[in-house]
Amino acid sequence: MLLTMSTTVLSGIRATGRLHLGNYLGAVKGMLALQQEEAISTFFMVADVHTITTPYNIDELRINRREVIIDYLAAGLDPERSTLFLQSMVGEHLELAFLFSSVMSIARMQHLPTFKDKVKQYPEHATMALLNYPLLMAADILLYKANLVPVGIDQEPHIEITRQVARKMNEVYGTQLPEPQRFATKGEYVPSLQGIGKMSKSVEGSYISLTDTKTEILDRLKQAPTDSGVGRLTAMSQGVKNLLQLVELFSGAEKRKEYESQYEDTGIRYGALKAELATAIFAELKPLQERRQQFIAKPKLVDEVIEAGVTKARAVARETLDEVKEKMGLG
Ligand code: AMP
Repeated sequence: MLLTMSTTVLSGIRATGRLHLGNYLGAVKGMLALQQEEAISTFFMVADVHTITTPYNIDELRINRREVIIDYLAAGLDPERSTLFLQSMVGEHLELAFLFSSVMSIARMQHLPTFKDKVKQYPEHATMALLNYPLLMAADILLYKANLVPVGIDQEPHIEITRQVARKMNEVYGTQLPEPQRFATKGEYVPSLQGIGKMSKSVEGSYISLTDTKTEILDRLKQAPTDSGVGRLTAMSQGVKNLLQLVELFSGAEKRKEYESQYEDTGIRYGALKAELATAIFAELKPLQERRQQFIAKPKLVDEVIEAGVTKARAVARETLDEVKEKMGLG
């Protein structure tokens, strides 16, 4: 997509705990890349309201939502260039999500694969909040008239819903909401360390946290399943494919090819691969962890970043909400 003066970017991460490599490669790296572009406006929020759509602990949420802001700052998001804020502090998100629900059928929402997956995962918590998750996300994006959204590939169905909401709102009420696109990174799908599915905070053993030490990273990698390691004898297991994908993401495509030819030839020594991979991952995370400590030591600065971000976000959000309400006969 061509980046122009009218490009606006929004993304967010739920406050469910420490960020992991999936969040970093699939979302944060895209945010960092787009923040570099002088011409465009970038809004990055902590999706703390989205956090209540699945079971959560109140005290942990209080802490985690602030920790995500610290993670953003540690990763290099710059409050001078990007608006960093907490979703719950800009009430317009909730208001717009409700207005959007007037153009979306219950059936469309119930058939979303992301909704079905979460209901399977939390059968006791098939709530209206969960059903409305994609509409809240549409409100997050469209309040800022964002047309580019750096998120992982798992979010594509929600971006599609957002486009559909924008189209319907424009048709029915004559609003002028954009139809956003996902901004994809090389790590748009980071697999689980367990060999099945994606890396996810809710699946223990699947992820590496951005705050893990080198030893912790290696320990987690050691748990990752492999195989006999000789391609002539077996087809490559999903566990090994996933490890090679991480090798490519952290050490480059050449390194991956090296391991692939070893696989076909002598076989891979997985102990050595995992040690090398742990070193490469930690080399990328170490500067983030050091910056994290600096921001933890400056709570006042973090408060100021949030306050300034919320003020800026609210002003833009209010304007869009007023426009939409006016068109809907509620102005
Ligand atoms: P969540 O933790 O579900 O709020 O996700 C926050 C962001 O991280 C979203 O943009 C997701 O698409 C992205 N993300 C989460 N897990 C992964 C993964 N395993 N691979 C790539 N992106 C991911």
